[in-house]
Order: sequence, then structure tokens, then C-alpha cells
Amino acid sequence: MSETETPAPVSNFLRDIVSADLTSGKHKEIVTRFPPEPNGYLHIGHAKAICINFGLVQEFGGRCHLRYDDTNPAKEEQEYIDAIEADVRWLGFDWGKHLYHASDYFEQLYQWAEHLIEKGMAYVDDQTPDEMRLNRGTLTEGGKPSPFRDRAVAENLDLFRRMKAGEFPNGARTLRAKIDMASGNINLRDPVLYRIIHTPHPRTGTTWCIFPMYDYAHGQSDALEHITHSLCTLEYDDHRPLYDWLLEHLPVPARPRQYEFARLNITYTILSKRHLTQFVRDGHVDGWDDPRMPTIAGMRRRGIPPEAIREFVKRAGVARANSVVDMAMFDAAVRDHLNKSASRYMGVLKPLKVVIENYPEGSSEELDAVNNPEDPAAGSRKVPFSRELYIEQDDFMENPPKKFFRLSPGTEVRLRYAYFITCRQAIKDAAGNVIELRCTYDPATKGGNAPDGRKVKATMHWVSATHAVNAEVRLYSTLFNRPDPGADGDPVKDLNPASLDVIEAKLEPALAARNGKDTVQFERLGYFVRDSKAKGLVFNRTVGLRDSFAKAT
Ligand code: ATP
Ligand code: MG
Repeated sequence: MSETETPAPVSNFLRDIVSADLTSGKHKEIVTRFPPEPNGYLHIGHAKAICINFGLVQEFGGRCHLRYDDTNPAKEEQEYIDAIEADVRWLGFDWGKHLYHASDYFEQLYQWAEHLIEKGMAYVDDQTPDEMRLNRGTLTEGGKPSPFRDRAVAENLDLFRRMKAGEFPNGARTLRAKIDMASGNINLRDPVLYRIIHTPHPRTGTTWCIFPMYDYAHGQSDALEHITHSLCTLEYDDHRPLYDWLLEHLPVPARPRQYEFARLNITYTILSKRHLTQFVRDGHVDGWDDPRMPTIAGMRRRGIPPEAIREFVKRAGVARANSVVDMAMFDAAVRDHLNKSASRYMGVLKPLKVVIENYPEGSSEELDAVNNPEDPAAGSRKVPFSRELYIEQDDFMENPPKKFFRLSPGTEVRLRYAYFITCRQAIKDAAGNVIELRCTYDPATKGGNAPDGRKVKATMHWVSATHAVNAEVRLYSTLFNRPDPGADGDPVKDLNPASLDVIEAKLEPALAARNGKDTVQFERLGYFVRDSKAKGLVFNRTVGLRDSFAKAT
């Protein structure tokens, strides 16, 4: 399974429902929607909802709408709207001409609210938010009816129209559905349908100062768009009776059905816009697209390809039971994709100088290096070799333990695409640190094989010191230092202080010359991508080559 994207769609209960509805003729085609609230950037949890909604339509035909749930102007911004569209497209999905907003329906929703008032099914409540909360009851005890619950229809209509006309301040009154204050389901205890917010709306300006609540706007928007399957996360399970109640009592043009699936949770990760907003606002990260953020924009900047996100969502599966997916599984999906697609280069993160004593001073040569062993079509490139090189500090040990096969005094190793070299001497500074190695090379081993058939136990990456380019490399680790951030309160105290390590690296010159935005592999080190915002030569580490969680936890 690690080789390719899983071929056939794995079955899940949503596919089964859709498939059965098409087979039975209940629906001729399916219509789904992805309904983000533009109050933050999309994260990998949203990617799951996007893949499910657009994915079902790709598989079964029909269409998927992008609909902004723009019902709270106090929290929503144009920046988020633009980012959401860019992110959905980048993930590989297209809503065609089906871009909608809950605000497109404000007039119709308002008319339907008056309809409910006229039928005696909604009333204007003058209780303060605190009084409403107090009277709502608890999980075990019913609520107390509002003293305004039995207002006459005419008075309700008059007050609601005056709310709309802007006569009252924020919070002074609400419109509530008149359902059942004794219901075991708190969502049915006269839920608020409209509230007053005197804040200009990005699309409707100051036309409206009353705004529908999500629960009121959502199902009716679904009906207006003839959504067949309205898919949302499990926390809306308890809202479904309200969703159905409203559709039942309003003259809507269609009867969508809501189905709930478990939200995506990942270890070491927070997927809540409220917290992500806080990290950005308080400067714990460098914006929404900080490569440590679980946002689509952050992942893109970290070099994670959209195919890997889609594949990860597929592997994580769709179910009704809540679960937490291991971060290692995400990294594995990223590696599996990049292993096939990424071009290979050489770079040294912690340089140790090597002088090849028998290589002629002042000369150099170009050696052939394979661009991608997994993809012969990717071809090869030239890598400069010279008398002075850099290797990785970790690839040398002066007094190696038994199983250390890389460079140490007297051992011979292969330099990838180049020659066998043997270490003759380690030069140290006054403090005793090794600062340079004196080595010799065997000219007969050009390309990395000895004509006499002798073997070496290690192949190491390197760069030519005279040709190398300097680059800043940003090594990212998890944003949190525990698998369940926020489990005992504020996740801010679980932020990993070592989540970013900035180093100066030496890279083969081809890495400075290429202007591709795609993620590459630094051989033996991991996957890296040019940072899309930095001016100089800066690379972000996308993911290491091996699972670091097994060791860490
Ligand atoms: P958050 O909890 O991060 O604030 P939200 O649910 O308030 O997210 P919306 O913009 O309302 O954010 O979400 C749009 C859609 O994405 C909804 O259908 C929601 O159920 C879905 N969604 C949000 N988070 C996840 C998640 N972690 N896994 C799966 N789907 C999610
Ligand atoms: Mg929401």
C-alpha cells in the first residue's frame, strides 16, 4: 500500500448510503456541499470534509457546492474567503459555477422566519443572554419557559421587524423557535434563530443587522440548493432533530438529509480554528501559513503535496466512531508520495570539511548523479567534485562503536556518485573538536564502484566545498510536545519550544539554480522545499526520511 495511492475507493458508510439512494432511485444525482465559515484558514480536518464531499461527487456524479457559512460578520473576513478558495483548488477540487453564500439567502431566510412567527412557531425573546443561559436547563433538567414565550403573533412580528430595522442594540432581543423547553435535547429548547449584530457584513454591508444562526441558516440553505446529502461532523448529531424540524415547518423546495461522520483528529495537532486563530494572533507562529501549522496553507508552504493530503485522508477512513490518527501515518503518506515524485539532490546540514590529499589542487570535475532512482524518466544531472568537500558531521566518528560503518580513521567509504575515500587523519581545534578530515581517494573507483570488486559498508552524501551554495534550512518538528495538546487545559502551554531549528547548510549548486516550487529530497536527510516567502535561498524541511515518532514516544 505504500507504493501508490490506494486504487479502489475503500467503502464507508457514506458511500453506501449514496450508492443505495442512487440505486433505489431516491435521487437521480447527488448534490453535496462544503460549508466553511470564513473565520479562519482551512486545516487538515477541513481537508477531510472537502475530500468526502467532492470525492463522493467525483465517484458517483452530481455536483458539490462551495458555500460560505457567512452568518457572523463579527468574525468573518475577506482574507479568509480568498484563502479558502485557493486552498480548495490547490487540494484539487472544483466547484464550477456552484459558489454560494448563506448571505445569498438572507432575504428568503427572513421571510421564512416571519412565516414561523405567523404560524406561532417563533417568538421574540427579550431575555438577556445570561437569563437565557440560566433558563435553558441542563442535560438532566428541562429548561424554564421565557416570560416572553407566549407573546401574540402581531407583537412578535412587530418586534422582529423592528429588530431588522435596527431599533435595538446587540443582544437586546433574539428570535427563538417555539419548540419544547422540556425536551431532553437542549437544541430543541427554543433555539435562537436570529440575533442582532451591528457590524457591517463583507457582502451585505449594513443592509442587515440581524443575522441567522448556523442552525437556522444551514438546513434552509441546503434545501434552497437542493443538496441531497448534507454531510457534517458528529457534534451536529444532536442538531439533526432541529435541522429536520425546521425543514418540516417551512415551505422549503427540497428535503435534504443530514449525515454525520467523525471529525479528523491527529496526534500532536490541534484542529480548532479558535485555537489556531489564537496562535496566529498571539504570535506563537509566523501566520496562518507557518509551516508548523496544520492548515492547508501551512502544509503547502512546508512542501506537502496535495496528493499526499488526499491519500492520507483516504487512509484515515470515514466512520462514525471518533478516533485519533497517529501523526506518523500522515508523515508516511507524505513520504510515500514524495519518494515517487521528488528529485534527489545532495546537501549537507552540519558540514565537516574533508580534504582529499591526492586530488589535484585547483581542479574539479563533473560527475553524473541520478535524479530519481524511482523514476528513470527523471534523468540525471552533473554534480561538481573537487579536492575540498563537506560531509555530514554525524557521518564521522573518531572512535566508532562496533556497528558504525561510516567514516572513521582508516576506514573506506563510498561518496555517492563519486569515489571511494579513506580517512587518514582527523584535525582538531584547541578544544579537541574535529574540524577537518584528511582523506585520500581511489581514482579507479569513479562512479562509486571498485574494479577489483572490493566493498565498502557505507555510502555518504557530500558537496564540493568550492562549489557549494549556502542556504538557510528550517527544520520543523511538531508544534506541540505532547500527543494530546490541550488535554489539561490551554494548549499554549503544550507548544514545543524546539519546533523550529534554523541552520546554515551547504547545498549542491543545482539547488540554487532550479526555480521549481516542488519538493525535493536531500539524499539521506529528508524532503525539503524552497520557502515561498523568503527572499534568499531558504529551504523548509517537509519531513524526514524515517519515522521519528517511534523513537520519540
Ligand atoms: P473548527 O472546529 O476548527 O472551528 P468548524 O467546524 O467550526 O471548525 P467550519 O468552517 O464550520 O469549521 O467547517 C466547515 C466544514 O468542515 C464543516 O462541515 C465541518 O464539519 C468540517 N470540519 C471541520 N473540522 C473538521 C475535522 N477536524 N474533521 C472533519 N471535518 C471537519
Ligand atoms: Mg463551524
